[in-house]
Amino acid sequence: MILKRIKLDIQMVGETNCYIIQDEKTKETMVIDPGEEIDKITEMLDTLHANVKYIVLTHCHGDHISGVNKLKEKYGGKILIHIEDEPGLRDPMINLSDYIGLGAISLEADSRLNDNDLIHIGDIEFKVIHTPGHTKGGICLYIEKEKILFSGDTIFRGTWGRTDLPTGSFEDIIKSITDKIMTLPEETIVYPGHRKINYDKRRRTNIFRIKTKRILVSFT
Ligand SMILES: [Zn+2]
Repeated sequence: MILKRIKLDIQMVGETNCYIIQDEKTKETMVIDPGEEIDKITEMLDTLHANVKYIVLTHCHGDHISGVNKLKEKYGGKILIHIEDEPGLRDPMINLSDYIGLGAISLEADSRLNDNDLIHIGDIEFKVIHTPGHTKGGICLYIEKEKILFSGDTIFRGTWGRTDLPTGSFEDIIKSITDKIMTLPEETIVYPGHRKINYDKRRRTNIFRIKTKRILVSFT
């Protein structure tokens, strides 16, 4: 398995992570969250002689989807998103593309995902874990064999995603993290939608303490 992290610089948002995963034998490739700076992504795909099978979106926000059309035009591939975030793909008021300075983006998905769906590229199997909270239809993708989790904007190193945007819910994100992420094996490596990769389970457990501390500070 080849795994590449492409750091994209997106205006008003900062750095967003796009991931490219390839099955070496078949060259079948998945691109997760292609935001801006599409040239960086295409350069890597060309180097890998990629056969793009899927473009998977962890959620509908503009900084994760703005490169999708250009990518699909050049390489093909099916656009997949969770069924509850699919309406947001078509609605710039929900995907916030205009708000974050990317121009109004409206996209059509090829297929809609549900919790526990399995996606395959070559021998690599990804399990869809529905983790509402940052958005209603946010997902994580889990490769059980490798103990790797792509967490989108549900969880970052030391904290979690915003819940004050359209369709977000604080209660839901805490439930998603507690029930579906903390229950994964201790050695799971988390590849988030922003910031650095998290190799350390203690940091994931600590996010609750960190957040509580921050809230306490802001009230004093
Ligand atoms: Zn987001």
